[in-house]
Amino acid sequence: MLKLPLCPYCGARFLFPTVKQSQTKKTGICPHCGKEFRVSRSWRWVLYLAALAVFVGLDCALLTIPSMNVPFLMVITAIGVIIIYFLIPYTVRYKKL
Ligand SMILES: [Zn+2]
Repeated sequence: MLKLPLCPYCGARFLFPTVKQSQTKKTGICPHCGKEFRVSRSWRWVLYLAALAVFVGLDCALLTIPSMNVPFLMVITAIGVIIIYFLIPYTVRYKKL
């Protein structure tokens, strides 16, 4: 599920910054074969839901520790959000138009 997208026509690989740029667009053009593809972001929601489940579970587990405090939980959650932010390009898929 978590991998960078390939060109649906020629199978060319795309680098992280390229995918990151394309994730806000609806379509893109392959620099290798010049064909146009559709940018699919539907897997992103699976990532969000999985992340939500992990964080709720993690926060609940951490709250059972007696010395746990809210600022620490917020830091953990913030780190998690940053990780998710960088994982989003790995959920992008390129599809044929
Ligand atoms: Zn291509």
